[in-house]
Amino acid sequence: GQPRQCIKVKMDSQLKVGFIGAGNMAFGIAKGILPGDVLPEHVTVSAPSSKNLERFQELGVEVTHSNEDVVCGSDVVFVAVKPLLVPLVLTEICQHVTNKHVIVSVAAGVTLATLEELLPENSSVIRLMPNLPCVVQEGALLFARGTHAKPEDCALLRSLLQHCGLVEEGPEAWIDIHTGLSGSGVAFVYLFAEALAEGAVKMGMPSALAQSIASQTVLGAGRLLRDSGKHPAQLRSEVCTPGGTTIHGLHALERGGVRASVMSAVESATERAREFG
Ligand code: NAP
Repeated sequence: GQPRQCIKVKMDSQLKVGFIGAGNMAFGIAKGILPGDVLPEHVTVSAPSSKNLERFQELGVEVTHSNEDVVCGSDVVFVAVKPLLVPLVLTEICQHVTNKHVIVSVAAGVTLATLEELLPENSSVIRLMPNLPCVVQEGALLFARGTHAKPEDCALLRSLLQHCGLVEEGPEAWIDIHTGLSGSGVAFVYLFAEALAEGAVKMGMPSALAQSIASQTVLGAGRLLRDSGKHPAQLRSEVCTPGGTTIHGLHALERGGVRASVMSAVESATERAREFG
């Protein structure tokens, strides 16, 4: 892996941040950025229609239909349109991108090489892969720096995203793995939560109650895992009384091959992400 970035950036309250695209990802990241030092009036978001811009207005940020205005008025620009639209958008903004800009793409499958090709030479480009829980400031984000992204650009991005969740840096090859682990992983956890609740319904608990207990169980297990820093196997063994309920349940899971299934799920999702790259 790469060494952890330890450059401290003093976030400038004058820093201007732009979003091209006003979808769920832009909204999640914007919500995570605003509790930091960036002023809402220093954030600008663009989209062709107004339908998604309204909720940004509620955050107090500037909205526009012009991508060029976003670039001209921002230091850091998040490109948050669907992957197929990235070439169109970058071609449109290219002439306004200068060496003061940091361009951060969240588009799945669009490589740093492609991004750099579409932007002026020596542009500072970062590829960022967030996941859905960004919208509740509990995202898992991995970024890879482009050829001309400076250490201070990466440090700036880290400090901008500090309220979005966990932010890590890695080589670009890990972005697809992160997509399988964390982008798609969210859905794997939802499936597990659904199955937990259905098990309880099968045993006679009302569905609504089973669902709220299942979601709290997933949340609590996740927080304990993260906050304790312990290996999951250790936490698991700590709840296993010899001959008790949990070891009986775990045996049933192992008989069902859940461990191999989950590993295969991450593998399949990663391979699918690689096909797009
Ligand atoms: P989305 O909800 O469909 O939003 C796309 C946004 O792009 C919309 O606001 C749309 O405008 C806008 N747009 C379309 N054409 C545009 C143009 N020419 N110029 C400027 N804006 C334009 O998509 P999303 O889920 O947020 O995904 C955005 C990106 O994030 C994708 O590249 C995706 O790969 C990446 N991503 C998503 C997730 C996820 O969990 N959703 C996770 C990781 C990465 P309108 O509002 O007018 O329709």
